[in-house]
Amino acid sequence: MHQLTLAEIARALADKSFSSEELTRTLLARIQQLDPQLNSFISITEEQALQQARAADQRRAQGETGALLGAPIAHKDLFCTQGVRTSCGSKMLDSFTAPYDATVVARLAQAGMVSLGKTNMDEFAMGSANESSHYGVVKNPWNLEHVPGGSSGGSAAAVAARLLPAATGTDTGGSIRQPAALTSLTGLKPTYGRVSRWGMIAYASSLDQGGPMARTAEDCALLLQAMAGFDPNDSTSVDEPVPDYSANLNAPLEGLRIGLPKEYFGAGLDPRIGELVHNSVKALEKLGAVVKEISLPNMQHAIPAYYVIAPAEASSNLSRFDGVRFGHRCENPKDLTDLYKRSRGEGFGPEVQRRIMVGTYALSAGYYDAYYVKAQQIRRLIKNDFMTAFEQVDVVLGPTTPNLAWKLGAKSSDPVAAYLEDVYTITANLAGLPGLSMPAGFVDGLPVGVQLLAPYFQEGRLLNVAHRYQQVTDWHTRAPNGF
Ligand code: GLN
Repeated sequence: MHQLTLAEIARALADKSFSSEELTRTLLARIQQLDPQLNSFISITEEQALQQARAADQRRAQGETGALLGAPIAHKDLFCTQGVRTSCGSKMLDSFTAPYDATVVARLAQAGMVSLGKTNMDEFAMGSANESSHYGVVKNPWNLEHVPGGSSGGSAAAVAARLLPAATGTDTGGSIRQPAALTSLTGLKPTYGRVSRWGMIAYASSLDQGGPMARTAEDCALLLQAMAGFDPNDSTSVDEPVPDYSANLNAPLEGLRIGLPKEYFGAGLDPRIGELVHNSVKALEKLGAVVKEISLPNMQHAIPAYYVIAPAEASSNLSRFDGVRFGHRCENPKDLTDLYKRSRGEGFGPEVQRRIMVGTYALSAGYYDAYYVKAQQIRRLIKNDFMTAFEQVDVVLGPTTPNLAWKLGAKSSDPVAAYLEDVYTITANLAGLPGLSMPAGFVDGLPVGVQLLAPYFQEGRLLNVAHRYQQVTDWHTRAPNGF
């Protein structure tokens, strides 16, 4: 049962091969048995899951259909879940129980999905290795000595290890696509505004976007269908009709124009990854796509711009965690300043503190123009690069990451080395564009991902290209040893 994709589960539930309750029990047992090796869950909500499963079985018995009715999911632990701890991977929120469901959580529940629990993540979604969580590091099921990527590393490891078929993630600079690449999953970051951010604990509000992580594009289409759409509770949510993503999956790729940015294949890219990316291009050419070299000349400025804008927004968003309004409160404070200082000093880990300091500095009166304003200008240039590119091509293709999943601890003493891993993913966040990572092979037993980017609201095109690719390749069907 645990090897099935969401689409296969939907068929099995529809023809009554098993019930949602049976499936839920099987997966919960699997999580109990195998997750101690991975540490991919922060909370397992066994009782609630069984209740939801029985409710889904009842809805089905009453004649309700729906692809996701009774299918399992887990949520990254920054989506608020009513009555369940929502920790954001931080000591700061270790005892926080959300009083309401995030829109994404509510919509998937409405579609009948059964939530098995909350997945581990980098503290406040800051990281690329899932090593900054208060709840410990997550391990990559493809090699337990390596990181699974971050910040949605728990979601990635759990789905890759077949503990469940799908999970939610969020992507501020690559946190859906990069862990998907490093664990051989399909992960989609939607257009900014496509999926509601309401009830998602904010990291950098102008960059954050929630999305699906699963094994196939077909499954991501099912999930996005339920997640996407206007939400009056989120003022940046866009009131744009949601197309039928599944209906478009098989559209022919004849004449599809693929752009390969020359900046994505230069120094810094592991040549073994480059080779697999080129193999994926050849497979798409066989399906009728035509390839063209393009240029995104401002890409080299993306990391510095992102690491000003994201910390700046984070420093403001995280000010609410002060031991008074939200979060951990220190013991016996002397006065108010002592309360703030010690609550925040004890509640936040070192990476979060570093970013708050960088962000506060960049926003301070004397430096605002030199850093924050400059970074916003670069952001516009990067967006313009893509607008020019999309006049010539339909999708942009390149590697998702420059390197393979690294060894646990290898980059933890050098934050900048970890920041550089985001080089191919953060441009999509700065520009607000949709991006998808799909499995494209292995090097030394570690997965490699290919990234596809498309114009605003063209998630359907990304899913279509990835689905066609997955019909002629089998990378996405492989399971790690021991799982
Ligand atoms: N690695 C990036 C960071 O640390 C991106 C994280 C994310 O997308 N949430 O900020």
